[in-house]
Amino acid sequence: SYNGIALPLNGKAITYENGAYVVPDTPIIPFIEGDGAGRDIWKNARRVLDAAVAKSYEGKRRVEWYEILAGEKAYRLHNDWLPQDTVQACLDFRVSIKGPLTTPIGGGIRSLNVTLRQTMDLYQCVRPVKHYPGVPSPVNNADDVDVVIFRENTEDIYAGIEFKAGSLEVQKLRDFVNNELLGNTKKKLRDDAGIGLKPISELGSTRLVRAAIQYAVDHDRKVMTIVHKGNIQKFTEGAFREWGYEVATTEFRDKIVTERECWILAALDKDPKISPEAIAKIVEPGIDFAPAAFGEKIVAEVKDVIAKIGATHGNGKWRDLILVNDRICDAMFQDLLMKPAEYDVMATTNLNGDYLSDAAAAQVGGLGIAPGSNIGDGYAVFEATHGTAPRLADQDVVNPGSVILSGAMLLRLIGWNEAADRVEKAMEETIRQKYVTVDFAKNMPGSTQVGTTAFSDRVIENL
Ligand code: NAD
Repeated sequence: SYNGIALPLNGKAITYENGAYVVPDTPIIPFIEGDGAGRDIWKNARRVLDAAVAKSYEGKRRVEWYEILAGEKAYRLHNDWLPQDTVQACLDFRVSIKGPLTTPIGGGIRSLNVTLRQTMDLYQCVRPVKHYPGVPSPVNNADDVDVVIFRENTEDIYAGIEFKAGSLEVQKLRDFVNNELLGNTKKKLRDDAGIGLKPISELGSTRLVRAAIQYAVDHDRKVMTIVHKGNIQKFTEGAFREWGYEVATTEFRDKIVTERECWILAALDKDPKISPEAIAKIVEPGIDFAPAAFGEKIVAEVKDVIAKIGATHGNGKWRDLILVNDRICDAMFQDLLMKPAEYDVMATTNLNGDYLSDAAAAQVGGLGIAPGSNIGDGYAVFEATHGTAPRLADQDVVNPGSVILSGAMLLRLIGWNEAADRVEKAMEETIRQKYVTVDFAKNMPGSTQVGTTAFSDRVIENL
């Protein structure tokens, strides 16, 4: 047992073999109920998920939920905000789900998210963002939003390597950088600056982009966009972009085409006799004003693309492949607002992903129904993307949608797609019937405002 709580008698652990989950018909899946409104949400989300599984598999399959403790409940029962047993159970059972937890004010307390992320190397933060018809949104094209954001979860400025202004560490670092690295340039770190490091590695970038492309392949998605700020941060954000394209063109060559390759292949489709020099002008319109060496480089690139994939991807075949493109992140924010239909799966660095996923969630009606997950190789933790909504806790009023849809993601991960589809369709139908909780009701004319339990009952009826 973990934290003194008996394991379900009929459950079996999920295992992971040769890169795939092996899922018994009665998997033990640990859950953390969560603090505050998490208490209202979890018990209802669980009913919905159980009903969907029961209806889909007629008793042949059943999730054996297993409570593990964290947050206020763990503190109350075991005087520990995050018992080691809880971390161990997440490791041993591989796939788990959690409600929101209070972040206690004051330092020194281990954060569950950080601990689990590090222990299980959960390097992907995956958030699907899609509009459910009728959900109040601040934009009028919200129905076009249906994206899945893969945010890198382990590096970037979140690596936590920061030094305070005036500290001994900052003095040493500043002197080293100013004297040894910037000696002959005009750049200088100021005396009163705090300094943070932004590591972006080849391993961290490639595995994240690989996961995003694999997702696009597995789920029949059409576009995978690398989002970065490489125009300014060449060796971190720019390198992320380059490593991303490298993974795409080496490991997924038969499944993808890049945007630049499309321009080349489309020009060739239109006029099979066109010269590489003429194609180069299409790819880089400003080429006439650039140094000759640059022009030669582009012509060489065009020839290379034609030689390597002209036969396999040409003659319009590229249109059926997954398009891999990239966007500078500030343009990405604009594009997602202005032309969301052009985007599909996105892979991005940690900080960009943080902003982008919350902005995208707001665009489709807020965090109340936005699901989230942290995924590694053989480990996954699903979670609500909102907090504990303390003012609404224990009143049966909050929206359970975020945890319900996180549960649907979980069911998908373990291959129980029929149940996952059922949950998503029932959520969509319930919202379409304008049967909604307070967060939506206030901006949804003609809606019936209901509590957490009544909303969940209706979702179950709609399964
Ligand atoms: P919050 O997400 O709890 O609340 C923000 C706003 O959204 C509030 O107005 C709240 O009432 C509303 N809201 C949130 N979830 C809702 C739901 N399901 N249905 C209806 N309305 C909902 O964020 P906060 O107020 O900044 O944080 C409260 C606590 O939650 C803090 O202790 C914070 O540390 C914690 N928190 C935890 C997580 C997590 O565990 N993943 C994430 C964020 C915040």
